[in-house]
Amino acid sequence: MAESLSIPDRIRDAINAHRQACDEPMAAFFYDLPALAAQGRALKAALPPGVELYYAIKANSEAAIIDTLAPIVDGLELSSGGEIERACACSTPRPWVLSGPGKLDSDMREAMMRGVEAFHVESLGEVERLQAIAASLDSHQPVLLRINPALPEAFSSRLRMAGTATPFGIDETQLSEAVQAVDAAPNLRLVGFHIHAMSHQACERRHQRLLATYLERWPHWRALASDPERVTQLNVGGGIGVNYLRPSEQFDWPGLCQALGQQLAAMPEPPRVRFEIGRFLSAFCGYYAIEVLDTKISHGEGFLVCRGGTHQFRLPAAQGHDHPVIHLPRDSQRAGEGERRPWTVVGQLCTPKDVLSRKQELSGVAVGDLLVLPLAGAYGYNISHADFLCHPRPEQRFVGDPLQEAPDGIGLCHARDARERHEGESKGQRPAEPLR
Ligand SMILES: *Cc1c(COP(=O)(O)O)cnc(C)c1O
Repeated sequence: MAESLSIPDRIRDAINAHRQACDEPMAAFFYDLPALAAQGRALKAALPPGVELYYAIKANSEAAIIDTLAPIVDGLELSSGGEIERACACSTPRPWVLSGPGKLDSDMREAMMRGVEAFHVESLGEVERLQAIAASLDSHQPVLLRINPALPEAFSSRLRMAGTATPFGIDETQLSEAVQAVDAAPNLRLVGFHIHAMSHQACERRHQRLLATYLERWPHWRALASDPERVTQLNVGGGIGVNYLRPSEQFDWPGLCQALGQQLAAMPEPPRVRFEIGRFLSAFCGYYAIEVLDTKISHGEGFLVCRGGTHQFRLPAAQGHDHPVIHLPRDSQRAGEGERRPWTVVGQLCTPKDVLSRKQELSGVAVGDLLVLPLAGAYGYNISHADFLCHPRPEQRFVGDPLQEAPDGIGLCHARDARERHEGESKGQRPAEPLR
């Protein structure tokens, strides 16, 4: 059973209001914009001097999410023509970079015409295409080469984009050739290197060691250029994980930033470092609320069949985890009453794979109650196969004014709670009460 989970009042109110307006059992996403803004500010405030924070919009590219984060972060990281459209429609124009494998010529041309800050180039073939397009527009483009470096086995994570065979970036053994190709391209200018090596990084120390290996190799990479002085930027990607199963224990972002700051301060010519974070910025603000349609016991196992399912919220299936579930009884007086037993939470799809969570201990669940899945703001609805079985698409509600005060960045707030709890326990005190 997930611990210390809560739903902010404004989200609870929005869920109740939405439910009253629905003729049918509900399934909808709710996003807490003040909490999203607070998370952005908290991440930004912890950065060492001179280090930048971009938002990788593929984690959640809804207009309200981008509009909330854009004034807070230093820029946006995009990977398609569709994402260029969304970023350019943002109410606060910010610098943006274009990255990703399989860029179309039309995307690269569009990016140049709309004022891209830099390209993250993924291959030798892309250097050639980019040069031709830049020449045709008589334009000069800053370029970062994305590297797939050799990495020690110890750095392995669940989703690896580097240190192994992948379609991403330029193999480190071909980097010298790629640098020469950019140097020889009259319309391109090498300004730095980019590495996005993994996703779901759970451990601050491991991430710190990963960044340290990049910084160790930085002078060597830079020296490959004909004019190393002009090569100043090191984009270290995103990949900070969210602890879905123990929401009170989150990645120690301030700890990572502090260690990075010390490493940079010790370097004679440190690069300008930039993060491009997706998940760790937007995950905490999202809630997927679904209504229980049926309850049943099958071969001894309890099932809650709910409106919606993995076609709207694919994240738990994609990651093979049991998503935390908060129970909101239809009659709030009944909260905590009734038989307690483990339930498997499933959706409406005619496939046994449509499972959101298994073995959740819940009390007195009845048809018509709501279940709320928190941590649903990143890679939730937007990675889902929403048209499967022709169910209607879920509504998405964006709640609150981003300028409204929210207590703290939620992920960071949780991480600090966990530390305080450890301290409390060691002093023999009762563990801190969960936030609401
Ligand atoms: C997806 C992606 C990111 C963001 O990753 P998160 O794990 O969401 O932080 C950053 N950079 C690149 C190149 C990506 O593909």
